[in-house]
Amino acid sequence: MEIDVLSTPFPETSTSAVDQIQADRLQKLTHAFDTADFSHAVAVAHERLAAHLEKDDLEVLKQEPPAGLMRQARALMTKGEGEFSPDRFADILDLYLRTGIQVNSRGYMARQFSSVVPVSAVFDMVSAMAPQPASFYEAGPLPNVADKILSEEFGERLGWVPGSFDMVSTSGASLANLTAVLAARNRHFASFWKGGVRPDSRGRPAVAIGADSHFSVTRIAGILGLGEDQVVRLPVDDRRRISIEGAIAALDGAAERGLNVFCIVAAAGSTSIGANDPLPALAAIARERGAWLHVDAAHNGAFLVSDRLRGRIKGIELADSFCLDAHKTLFMPAACTLLFYRQKGLAGTAFPQKASYVFDPDEDEISRFESGVKNFECTKRPSIVNLWLTWALYGRCFFETKLDYLVELTRIAHDHIASLSDFAVAHEPESNILCFIHRPEGSDGLDINRLQLELRNRVRDANRYFISKVDLDGVTNLRIVMMNHRIDRNDIVGLLEEIRRHGRDIVADWTRQTVAA
Ligand SMILES: *Cc1c(COP(=O)(O)O)cnc(C)c1O
Repeated sequence: MEIDVLSTPFPETSTSAVDQIQADRLQKLTHAFDTADFSHAVAVAHERLAAHLEKDDLEVLKQEPPAGLMRQARALMTKGEGEFSPDRFADILDLYLRTGIQVNSRGYMARQFSSVVPVSAVFDMVSAMAPQPASFYEAGPLPNVADKILSEEFGERLGWVPGSFDMVSTSGASLANLTAVLAARNRHFASFWKGGVRPDSRGRPAVAIGADSHFSVTRIAGILGLGEDQVVRLPVDDRRRISIEGAIAALDGAAERGLNVFCIVAAAGSTSIGANDPLPALAAIARERGAWLHVDAAHNGAFLVSDRLRGRIKGIELADSFCLDAHKTLFMPAACTLLFYRQKGLAGTAFPQKASYVFDPDEDEISRFESGVKNFECTKRPSIVNLWLTWALYGRCFFETKLDYLVELTRIAHDHIASLSDFAVAHEPESNILCFIHRPEGSDGLDINRLQLELRNRVRDANRYFISKVDLDGVTNLRIVMMNHRIDRNDIVGLLEEIRRHGRDIVADWTRQTVAA
């Protein structure tokens, strides 16, 4: 018998025993959707998250080994049929919060994600409860309007003529980079979409990328069927930015080898040190050679919001496309990425399934607002609204202030570390990322790379500071990323003291081991 869920309550008299069981189960299901369970859950979450937000002490990562975490997680699972228990819900939230990185801690300096602006996180719950898949206007009206508004705000900062460019939001810069290079490929080789990738009289289709590119960029040639052999690496200079002379030589060499480079991918904010490639010169080279310039500005693209910082990514307005990650340096919940195309219509070349529609001169009022035909994603979280909402409430200057502070703090850290004889900085910071090494007293003759790695691990395991490491030309460096505006000079001094303490221990341990051996 079919149960009509809408006819509640089930009339007792007319139900058989079997139906009664069904009715009980349905009752539970109804509970899961009623306001009581919801209100309990929100109250528990609010309490836990408020504590999480206020926790700015030096306790940053107490990571459980996977087997132990698996056991604890299993122990929290209902056997058989369950019902909502605020206590168990709280236990699960605690487990999540306790075993992860404490992003509000003043010791958290390791990665490119931060605590998110709380109101934007609250909106994440709203959009999860009231979903609006954002690719089509009918299903996601406000998200599509938010796309447009933010694209206009950024367009103004870029000096672009209103209505002359395109922006689509994607879930992550990895996807945005791929989409942009796909658009470049399709513009250059109109037949590939239908006929597949093949060499023509101009040579084998190839892309050129900076030697320091993010791994999402290095895998694009494989994904798009160009083949990794058709990737031209552009060498970087001593500031780890694409070298113009090196780039010209590499591109000339590629042409001689029969490669047809249709796209150059540069970076504004390299993952390793936050370096900005020389964009105006690269734009000129691309134009000269008929190639598309895409800028992976996942990290530093957000500098556009700052009057002080945007000069550092000058030339980005000349690129054919670029993307920026709002879930990094605009402090949004992941993933929220903006992919800009300098010329209107170019966004439509990525997925030319309906080319006539995209270039349709009588594009209608609704279709102008739709991103579905320009975007890889079908069901897409409306995370652009998180950004628009925060922008609407606090204004652009809110982002500017936080970014300015973090970049300035990194400059201060650089100047301080550079002045210490037992430390060496790897570069001038162009962003909020800084790499350096520590040479403790008595470390001459020890493997300095292994020592940095050991330092990084011991610092992490001591659970007061959390930093990362990166290899730069064969040299292992410690790496800090300033994402938390609560951090100040004292925390930097504290971190260096912590590093020194572990440095002394490591030298003592390793020397003892050598003597013993
Ligand atoms: C983080 C990052 C990416 C990847 O972006 P996701 O949003 O994580 O997909 C790509 N390039 C650079 C330079 C990055 O910093």
